[in-house]
Amino acid sequence: MFDIQSIRNDFPILSQKVHNHDLIYFDNGATTQKPQVVIDAIVDAYTKTNSNIHRGIHTLSQLSTTMYEQARQMVQVFINAPHDYEIIFTKGVTESLNLVAQTFSEAFLNEGDEIIVSAMEHHSNLVPWQMVCERKKAKLKCIPFNHDGVLDIEAYKNLFTEKTKFVSVVHVSNTLGTVNPIKEIIDIAHSHNVPIMIDGAQSVQHIPIDVQELDCDFFAFSGHKIYAPTGTGVLWGKEEWLEKLPPYQGGGDMIKTVTLEKTIYNDLPFKFEAGTTNYVGAHALGVALHYLMNIGMPYIQKYESELIQYANQKLAEIPQVTIIGNAPEKAGAISFEVDGAHCADIGMILDKQGIAIRTGTHCTEPIMQYYGVPGTARMSLAMYNTKEEIDYFVKTLAKVAMMFE
Ligand code: PMP
Repeated sequence: MFDIQSIRNDFPILSQKVHNHDLIYFDNGATTQKPQVVIDAIVDAYTKTNSNIHRGIHTLSQLSTTMYEQARQMVQVFINAPHDYEIIFTKGVTESLNLVAQTFSEAFLNEGDEIIVSAMEHHSNLVPWQMVCERKKAKLKCIPFNHDGVLDIEAYKNLFTEKTKFVSVVHVSNTLGTVNPIKEIIDIAHSHNVPIMIDGAQSVQHIPIDVQELDCDFFAFSGHKIYAPTGTGVLWGKEEWLEKLPPYQGGGDMIKTVTLEKTIYNDLPFKFEAGTTNYVGAHALGVALHYLMNIGMPYIQKYESELIQYANQKLAEIPQVTIIGNAPEKAGAISFEVDGAHCADIGMILDKQGIAIRTGTHCTEPIMQYYGVPGTARMSLAMYNTKEEIDYFVKTLAKVAMMFE
């Protein structure tokens, strides 16, 4: 069962003080902290088993390879992928999204074709598509959202033409916290026979993911936002699509045979894993996912959804605070503004009280343009946060807000 104190004890960084205050870490959308089991997994791997994978017949290399491939199976179970070879390890969701944008467009995008993304994408699911559209003279279309931060599904339906080749949409907005109706969005794309990728960077740590139930074609996330090390990430793709896409990068491991004239590419998943991967990080990602499965994602989702509703309600009670994004279903993040204050000042003052939040554009400048703000303050929650922390944060913020009146 969900035991918050025992979970907090698993994260050594949480017990430290910042500016002589207990650390309240509300910057989980940027990156999450790591439990001791993940830290130990990294230390143990470098202490006991380190050796490059897939290339050695000696004991350590085989151990390292087994740990890496077991991590792949852990990801498979965690997102309920049909096959482990559909899991590609990357250095993060940005690389996963770029991989698909680049390889899909190389193979399938032609002049005049159209790609659909949403207007609330993180730059990493917008800029790669702008780049390939510019190169291929294709058109990028954006699903608009309303003032509550909710995608306009009717407008989305109307964006499809016979030229639409691909849809790529964020599951949970890192800025607005909006949980998009992703199943409906996927089904609409498929009703037009268009493949769809989901940016799960802000959903996979909050919401149980079943890629078979979702039936998306690609699902991408970063390890560091789900209690695993930086420099790790996942791209899951349906086998039929991964087989159709050309390799992303050339190098070791992604080949079967090479002559000076020609290369035969390796099978999945290695075709997309050129060079030495972050195999220690991938192993630690597997450990993080195992840790989460032991707690149970449905319990985490239930606890966190109560937490975010509580935070949303308490923040809304501060008269000088305006919440940006009021979708009926939110996960992870709450963005807000304080009357008369620049968000950076709010962030700096809260830091002096031990509270870590993020301020700025959150790599979603089009969202800032829509609301006409230079940036927002953003608190973002993880499973180890508590109502007591929210109370202290809200009390402190209310005092700060009065200073700016
Ligand atoms: N997509 C979303 C929704 C995100 O929140 C982020 C990180 N803020 C990214 C993509 C990019 O993640 P990374 O920097 O780990 O590649």
